[in-house]
Amino acid sequence: MDTKLLDILACPLCKGPLKLAEDKSELICKADGMAFPVRDGIPVMLESEARTLDVDERLDK
Ligand SMILES: [Zn+2]
Repeated sequence: MDTKLLDILACPLCKGPLKLAEDKSELICKADGMAFPVRDGIPVMLESEARTLDVDERLDK
């Protein structure tokens, strides 16, 4: 995924910065504890499609 694209992406809920998951399959908002899927390189910024992070994921490793 284009890192420039990541620069302009913000969380649709809190408008905060998103972090690309290591496997690049998700965009993570730590503030909300949500992960938005990236499908075929396209981020799906919909709350209804987002996954709730589990406790381990919420902690910054
Ligand atoms: Zn957020």
